[in-house]
Amino acid sequence: MSAFDVDLFVIGAGSGGVRAARIAAGYGAKVLVAEEFRVGGTCVIRGCIPKKLMVYASRFADDFEDAAGFGWTLAKPVFDWNTLVAAKEKEISRLSAIYRTNLDKAGVSILDSRAEVEGPHTIRLKNSGQEVSARYILVATGGSPVLEPSIPGLEHTITSNEVFDLPELPRHMLIVGGGYIAVEFASVFARLGTKVTLTVRSENVLRGFDEDMRCGVRDALQHAGVDLKIVTLPARIDKGADRLSVTLTDGTLLDVDQVMLATGRLPHTKGLGLEKAGVELDQIGAVKVDKFSKTNIDSIYAVGDVTNRVALTPVAIREGHAFADTIFGNKETLVDYANIATAVFTTPELGTVGLTEEQAREQFDCVDIYAASFRPLKATLSGRQEKTAMKIVVDGTTDRVLGVHIFGDHAGEMAQVLGIAVKMGVRKADFDDTMAVHPTSAEELVTMRTRTARYERETVGEEGPGAAVIAE
Ligand SMILES: Cc1cc2nc3c(=O)[nH]c(=O)nc-3n(C[C@H](O)[C@H](O)[C@H](O)COP(=O)(O)OP(=O)(O)OC[C@H]3O[C@@H](n4cnc5c(N)ncnc54)[C@H](O)[C@@H]3O)c2cc1C
Repeated sequence: MSAFDVDLFVIGAGSGGVRAARIAAGYGAKVLVAEEFRVGGTCVIRGCIPKKLMVYASRFADDFEDAAGFGWTLAKPVFDWNTLVAAKEKEISRLSAIYRTNLDKAGVSILDSRAEVEGPHTIRLKNSGQEVSARYILVATGGSPVLEPSIPGLEHTITSNEVFDLPELPRHMLIVGGGYIAVEFASVFARLGTKVTLTVRSENVLRGFDEDMRCGVRDALQHAGVDLKIVTLPARIDKGADRLSVTLTDGTLLDVDQVMLATGRLPHTKGLGLEKAGVELDQIGAVKVDKFSKTNIDSIYAVGDVTNRVALTPVAIREGHAFADTIFGNKETLVDYANIATAVFTTPELGTVGLTEEQAREQFDCVDIYAASFRPLKATLSGRQEKTAMKIVVDGTTDRVLGVHIFGDHAGEMAQVLGIAVKMGVRKADFDDTMAVHPTSAEELVTMRTRTARYERETVGEEGPGAAVIAE
């Protein structure tokens, strides 16, 4: 008989926790999962899925406009926010139930309770006060929105946790932040009919993405009517009778219905009791783990956003799976973090895989850029002005493709497929050898033959590597 109540106790039924629990149970482990909110976690309940549903809703606005150029006459479309919220709720409830059923089928027990760590093998359930012992504990508690900047009136703000269930569509909304969540919601609400002001701490949106793509997203947001204020933040928020009065750092006064903070997310470890077990956290509270997701305590592992590695659903899932394979499947498995394809679901969207031009130029001696910007075929009749932009970043020495960046319709779908090729070590010559699919936007990827720029690093002198220079 085992010395523990269960082989594995998973704290958090989100992307990483659910996958780890199911796979571990499949290897014969006795598994318990505790969830304090709703099974499915951030992605299903208040992240990727409801967000993408809202992106779809918002894009009809463009489709209705575009239809005229193709001969359609439509009555003035009317949007009803509450219908969308109800439909979204129905779908995420269905998905949450499927997650629950799949856990049941795998033999995993689910506890609807907050759980906290009491020691290296002990967890306490907050609902009942019951203690459970486990051979292994997996911390998969995700992250939560940062409430910044710390200003008077912060209590009147909302975050992505609340935005999906607002009682009504805001007439005017201030979104604070320049990351992917901020720009996605700015793009969504602007199309649903909200007047959107977006304040960004720095000079541009989407820090860390390719510079040209960042500019593409910025321009498209402004084109959609988003009032973008760079190097600006809210300074104070005052609650009026039925609206919020916001003073910005540039002195502007805004009357808005909602202020949404999208200023980042922090690992969800507060009050979790990890210190009682001696688990080390980093300076922002993320659980420190090794390449097998093991903490400094042998019986405690952590996966997903709580470890602050790459905060994306597929990564959390992969980490959860690798943990279960390693510990319960007797199959040491590592997660490969190189070349993770990802998308930003603005309209148009940004799809990306691999190094940006800026990163490549820092890391490689010779970098070739192939870039194109064009009006997609559909826009010729719809009259839409936005351009599609594509960029291939190539190691000029080996011809290996280091990164591909696309800003245009279906860029996320393209990035997923390009991710396979880049992962396999595709060369630019392989792109050139590939027959185009015509007429598509993606065909541009295999027809960009003329190099746009080559950047060569100057010979290393006594003072170290010289600056990158444009050779053509
Ligand atoms: C608005 C938004 C949009 C996003 N869009 C995308 C996207 O398009 N693509 C993408 O890949 N990623 C996206 N993400 C990120 C993605 O949602 C996360 O990376 C992913 O959900 C992380 O999974 P996880 O298992 O680490 O944590 P989570 O999915 O957050 O799950 C953690 C779970 O633990 C529970 N929990 C926490 N503490 C306790 C406790 N003490 N006891 C019991 N339960 C607890 C929480 O309630 C939660 O259900 C988005 C995130 C947000 C906020």
